[in-house]
Amino acid sequence: MTRPTEAALRAPVWPGDPEYDRSRRVWNGMIDRRPAVIARCSDTADVSAAVRYATEAGLAVTVRGGGHNVAGLALADDALLIDLSPMRDVDVDPVNRLAVAGGGALLADLDGATTPHGLACPVGVVSETGLGGLALGGGYGWLARKWGLTCDHLTAAEVVLADGSVVRASEESHPELLWGLRGGGGNFGVVTKFTLRLRPVGEVWVRSSVHPIESAGEVVRAFRDAMPSQPDDLQLSGAFKRAPAVDWIPASLHGQPVLAFTTVWLSAEGGPEAAGRIFADCPPAASTERVMPFAELQALGDGAEPAGRRYYTTSGYLVDELPAEAIDVLVRYASEGLSTYSTIDLGYFRGAVARADEETSAFPSRDASFIVSASAAWDDPADDDRGRDWAGGLLRDLGPWRSEGSYVNYTQRSGRSAADVYGADRYARLSTLKAKVDPTNMFRGNHNIAPHPLASEGTP
Ligand SMILES: Cc1cc2nc3c(=O)[nH]c(=O)nc-3n(C[C@H](O)[C@H](O)[C@H](O)COP(=O)(O)OP(=O)(O)OC[C@H]3O[C@@H](n4cnc5c(N)ncnc54)[C@H](O)[C@@H]3O)c2cc1C
Repeated sequence: MTRPTEAALRAPVWPGDPEYDRSRRVWNGMIDRRPAVIARCSDTADVSAAVRYATEAGLAVTVRGGGHNVAGLALADDALLIDLSPMRDVDVDPVNRLAVAGGGALLADLDGATTPHGLACPVGVVSETGLGGLALGGGYGWLARKWGLTCDHLTAAEVVLADGSVVRASEESHPELLWGLRGGGGNFGVVTKFTLRLRPVGEVWVRSSVHPIESAGEVVRAFRDAMPSQPDDLQLSGAFKRAPAVDWIPASLHGQPVLAFTTVWLSAEGGPEAAGRIFADCPPAASTERVMPFAELQALGDGAEPAGRRYYTTSGYLVDELPAEAIDVLVRYASEGLSTYSTIDLGYFRGAVARADEETSAFPSRDASFIVSASAAWDDPADDDRGRDWAGGLLRDLGPWRSEGSYVNYTQRSGRSAADVYGADRYARLSTLKAKVDPTNMFRGNHNIAPHPLASEGTP
């Protein structure tokens, strides 16, 4: 290929360079794409130069934050990959409860900087995930019911637009761009700095429990019935999976399909009382609980889904009624075809997520209660079809009980277009914004919002 202004890329990695294969690796081992060139960016000027280079060379651009996107959207064949992994600095202003994080920061970087101050931004539950993709797509985690989504805490962003210019989006300057960055994904430019509002956190009470698969239907019904009236400080996350061989789980369940719950109460006091009633009629076969610092909770999920394994993820929101037929489908898929590493996650949100003003962000589906995600995981490429069929089949069979939209960050396949995800009005507004900041759709390695053909004028 031609290399028009190679010098403009400060640290390029080209096909054939010794570090090329390592640099194009992402979390999902299924993704094997070959960028034309990788621009490892250390600051905003590097990002701007890389975007200008891509324009000159006629290359599409993809952006890598933490590389954890389940669909591998950070990578595309023959595109220029902007790798933000050198940009992981986080500065905390504890007085004003704000953090400024680099575009390539991981959740661990953010939590590591904020929790010593007794503060945290609501983010996801696995600390190796990238803040960039997570925040731009929404960001659900343990603090979501209490405080809302990550994108609800984005107060400003430094963004490199498709023409290489740098803008600061905030409520005062480029407010429409800020609105789009709150849930519209990486469609509008490269965020080099995220300014995030922080919340007070201290010690938390955490219980891990497992129910045998035989009682899983009854347990999901209890979860369904209890959650709407629970306080926002209580968060539960369910997972159908094969029980790990750990001390607190009876040996007879090791390797067997179970329904596991992680229950979090956002205080050191009162956890057992707050959580105790939910499964009173269907107690777990085993459980373990303790009080821990918030930072420890944030790393609890690390290692469960290691980088490099092969993954296929499908996800959707389910109707509030969650009828017996839908629960039967979940239990059937958990009982049949659940491979050693695969999981079906079942979450419940609402709380602050649902209470947030619809107008302040592009994030859709705030009313959704239940979210289900099937994450098929395996090592051997010979199992690719089996993994895809299992996760795809679950979503298909849950079809009659899916509610509108889907969460762009959890899905390799949702069966929904970006227009379906955002709904007609929100999609039209996003599409108008896209036309203003990225009229040629340079940033298309995402759940893509097409630029509106008639709307490229004006300030975003
Ligand atoms: C193990 C695991 C656990 C997860 N847990 C949660 C969870 O608890 N809660 C939750 O909400 N989600 C969770 N997710 C989903 C996660 O939010 C998405 O996969 C997200 O895309 C990951 O972001 P990333 O920066 O690591 O991704 P990358 O693969 O680096 O990037 C994905 C896309 O995000 C965009 N992007 C990333 N950074 C930038 C930037 N700085 N500027 C512009 N665009 C950018 C680009 O469009 C890019 O294609 C999890 C995923 C995994 C694999």
